[in-house]
Amino acid sequence: MTLKNKRSFNQHRVTHFIMEYTFISKNTFNKIIDQYIMNLPVPKQEKALINLDLLNKIKQILLNPKDSAVCNKNMRDWAKKRFRLEEVTPGDYRVITKANNNPVLVVENMYEILCRTHAETTQHGGQRQTWKSIIEKWSWIKQDIVEKFVNNCAICAVRKPSFHPLAAKPIITNNFLSRVQVNFIFV
Ligand SMILES: [Zn+2]
Repeated sequence: MTLKNKRSFNQHRVTHFIMEYTFISKNTFNKIIDQYIMNLPVPKQEKALINLDLLNKIKQILLNPKDSAVCNKNMRDWAKKRFRLEEVTPGDYRVITKANNNPVLVVENMYEILCRTHAETTQHGGQRQTWKSIIEKWSWIKQDIVEKFVNNCAICAVRKPSFHPLAAKPIITNNFLSRVQVNFIFV
């Protein structure tokens, strides 16, 4: 193996290490996404989530709002109604959802952002906390996906306080019995 080959091999390993988190695999995440899309009615599947390809179409439409050659009318109307562009650096735009003024979270970045938000920002917070934290900064992400993501977190699965229905019961029973006793004494 030449030095050059060795280096690129190591670089690949490093990239892989950064991209994959231990508490939920990319594969599991992809399955959550596939399942979410599959369960939607077919006409809704295309725009339910936004990938880089669709994001670029939206950008093209908004950069050329009067050009009827860009996509079909349905797509153009949808893009203009739902999104606006924000210039980050000269000539570089990001797509903002009008409804909440946050940038679109594209499918390709979802795994990374969900992992970081769930593990770093919320310190493995629950479904609601993770969802709240996500929609504070992003748009076009679905609550159902965030919930399933948290449900599949290996660290949360271990940490989750177990519910003991049997441990709670004697307390209720004791209260009930002491009330019965009090009543009995007064009778
Ligand atoms: Zn977790």
